[in-house]
Amino acid sequence: MAVRSSSISVAVAPMLTKLQQDCATPLPVLRNVADSMSADIRAGLAVDGGSDLKMILSYVDRLPTGNEKGLFYALDLGGTNFRVLRVQLGGKDERVIATESEQVSIPQELMSATSEELFDFIASVLANFAQKGGNFHLPPGRKGEIGFTFSFPVKQTSIDSGILIKWTKGFSVSGTAGKDVVACLNEAMDRKGIDMRVSALVNDTVATLAGARYWDDDVMVAVILGTGTNACYVERMDAIPKLQGDFPSSGRTIVNLEWGAYRKGLPLTVFDRDMDAASINPGEQIFEKTISGMYLGEIARRALLYMAEEGSLFGTSVPEKLSMPFVLGTPDLSAMQQDTTDDLQTVGSVLYDVAGVESTLNSRKIVLEVCDTIVKRAGRLAGAGIVGILQKIEEDTQGVIFGKRTVVAMDGGLYERYSQYRRYLKESVAELLGPETSQNIVIEHSKDGSGIGAALLAATNSKYDRNY
Ligand code: ADP
Ligand code: MG
Repeated sequence: MAVRSSSISVAVAPMLTKLQQDCATPLPVLRNVADSMSADIRAGLAVDGGSDLKMILSYVDRLPTGNEKGLFYALDLGGTNFRVLRVQLGGKDERVIATESEQVSIPQELMSATSEELFDFIASVLANFAQKGGNFHLPPGRKGEIGFTFSFPVKQTSIDSGILIKWTKGFSVSGTAGKDVVACLNEAMDRKGIDMRVSALVNDTVATLAGARYWDDDVMVAVILGTGTNACYVERMDAIPKLQGDFPSSGRTIVNLEWGAYRKGLPLTVFDRDMDAASINPGEQIFEKTISGMYLGEIARRALLYMAEEGSLFGTSVPEKLSMPFVLGTPDLSAMQQDTTDDLQTVGSVLYDVAGVESTLNSRKIVLEVCDTIVKRAGRLAGAGIVGILQKIEEDTQGVIFGKRTVVAMDGGLYERYSQYRRYLKESVAELLGPETSQNIVIEHSKDGSGIGAALLAATNSKYDRNY
């Protein structure tokens, strides 16, 4: 990069070079991450606790085929919003006949209320939604069936039960940890007099895979890149040593990697280490902290603050707001990187608006280089993780992945809205696989696959023998 000589750049240039070196992801680094991801997947499938990757069994062993028919519901609880959805499925020919959905934000006080209070709220939103039935009909005597997307760490015990390990993402509801969250919801529905049942409990990654698979049989992997990150894929049951009991040897199931916990061979900087140390979960979720939306802005902020303090990036004084953790968000990085003006006006106004920084053209250029360095590393490492999954499946089944069309379904705000991130991710996959193989691998945004996906899993796991 061209850094013009000025008193600012002279001091900052070596800092930028060091950051770029520390974040570099040349092919050998990517290959090592892909290989280690494959090895970790294998170790986690062998035995519980065998790897950084938990390789959680989803109990989803019937994937949507397109033949599903009838009315099904989905509930999605995974962050600040709660969504209810219903879908009328018409089988192979008619597919999705109609969907309706409603979104409400979880009142702040319920995030630290009792378990009963939270689940009563969910049940009452559902009751209200179900009453406004519209054109949707259930045959007489048949209960409404729900696919429940619950994106908190759960120890799944069957397709329709799972024990909450702990609340995350700002939830501190008392009395749920250690309990079956499906039972909690069923009890709340009983209290509200709602005659419905949960047929499938899934996380958002699994629901995304199911939703994408409904439209395309070649979907084998799903990845979420949003506030956090996770991935899952379709595995053969006989390739899962830790899976006990009888199963058909041809059987397949979805396995949830919980890949945010991956950690081997990642190029990390002092800014990553400091951010981790200051986090609520130091030493944990290192891959997530390197590649997901919650953290990219914060890593960049830490690098910029250092350059401001030690290299006078923004002149002699250091803007006070730049010292505030998380003041710079990943959407700010992406807004700055979309700037096409000659004098980088957007970069200037974002810096001023979010961090109170007065910048020159030279310092804006350096800011852009810092953003690009952090985002490039993130996108390329995410790509290497994806190749690690594909590689593992390919090793077991020569030609089944790389020798034909294979689809990776992507979702999450970071992937959806950050074009440079997407580009770096795809570039890394292409570099790792080579031109020929990478033509077979389709990396595709699955818009809102998870809502319909959960309803589809309620259908494929219906308690009733027949569709109607
Ligand atoms: P969640 O992961 O909480 O379910 P989303 O999938 O909607 O939610 O992702 C939200 C995250 O996506 C935000 O935390 C942010 O990091 C990232 N994000 C949102 N908008 C943008 C944007 N314009 N550019 C880059 N990243 C964005
Ligand atoms: Mg989400």
